[in-house]
Amino acid sequence: MSQNNKLTTRLVHEGEHPERNRVGAPTVMPIVSSATYVQTNAEGIDWGFANVNESFTYIRRGNPTVQALETAVASAEETTGAIATATGMAAMFLAIQTALYTPSTKKLSKRILCSRDVFGSTFVMLKDVFALQGYETILCDITDLDEVKRVMHEQQPDVLIVEAISNPMLKVSDIPTLTAMTHEIGGRMIVDATITTPVLRRMVYDGVDFIMHSATKYLNGHGDIAAGVVAVNDPELLKSAQKFSRLIGLNLAPYEARMVSRGMKTLTLRMRQQCENANAVAAWLAQQPAIKSVFHPSLPNHPQHELCKRLFDGKFGAVVSFELADVSRAAVFGLMDRCKIITPTTSIGDIYTLMTYPAISSHRDIAPDERARQGITDGLVRLSVGIEDAEDIIADLAQALA
Ligand SMILES: *Cc1c(COP(=O)(O)O)cnc(C)c1O
Repeated sequence: MSQNNKLTTRLVHEGEHPERNRVGAPTVMPIVSSATYVQTNAEGIDWGFANVNESFTYIRRGNPTVQALETAVASAEETTGAIATATGMAAMFLAIQTALYTPSTKKLSKRILCSRDVFGSTFVMLKDVFALQGYETILCDITDLDEVKRVMHEQQPDVLIVEAISNPMLKVSDIPTLTAMTHEIGGRMIVDATITTPVLRRMVYDGVDFIMHSATKYLNGHGDIAAGVVAVNDPELLKSAQKFSRLIGLNLAPYEARMVSRGMKTLTLRMRQQCENANAVAAWLAQQPAIKSVFHPSLPNHPQHELCKRLFDGKFGAVVSFELADVSRAAVFGLMDRCKIITPTTSIGDIYTLMTYPAISSHRDIAPDERARQGITDGLVRLSVGIEDAEDIIADLAQALA
């Protein structure tokens, strides 16, 4: 598949079975469920181990179905390569590990700069895993560019971690500016692009070093597997990430890889519908007296509304958070229990509309004062808007709020 084709076309065709010239070969990449692979002779085995990207030897070092997904992701993100991992957290771990432990010209400060608004488990991983390796994490408000610049120059962090659009507060990161700032001090840039997906922006053109996704969410899109991916453009960083992944065993399994490959074929269609639905739901919520505030970049009063429109192809993502006027657990529990179509469950990015209560799920392991600083109050509810008819989603919210 040529990179000259548009993204939607590449998403449909990339990563399928390459044996176009063998009569009767499957059209679709099969799930190759084999831990080992034969070679014609011992020379071949020797060659296979020396050339891991060209052949297959052992499942942890590579698998055809997983490689097909990696090809599809790299094609979508327009990077040199991509690595598929068992979960989104494994992908984030791999990105951070590679950013910190691949030789660079920068004198290491052993400091990580991270947006205050990252996914709860990412925050806990920095605090409970990388802290043990001697890395100090500094949190910042990623929307205050002057402050980020000041901290960046003072602390000389080795890496900056941000979410393109954050979960659950929907803050928008100025990716091109933040990447330039990070590279100016010789640091490496990791973007969690789970909410934006390659449909909203290909960040390789901003120079982002690691574009990471929880593929459990939009890339797969159907809520039936867990997976992660990291797209990397720099060949040295890619090689280093592949080495770590194969050694630590972060690799995705073949069945899950096939599911994500299939999900990605409809990514453009789903994102279009979900983003449109989210705009409608956010606009409706903003007019309800029972709702104190609505967080979605489509709303003209969102502080990064213009930035979001400019960076993300006029789209605003499909996650909408809102705060009830009655800021209490009981009020949120009541709302969740009354929903009929909307599924009260964790996660985002499914075809179904999902409702989550961050205080008891994604952010429950974060101390209440830090949670409050992030704006995650006991009245905050997160919606991942699905592909249903927007009118039905709104009607369900209306009856649940009544
Ligand atoms: C879900 C999620 C993750 C973690 O992904 P898993 O697949 O659950 O491991 C990371 N970042 C964001 C933004 C997420 O929504």
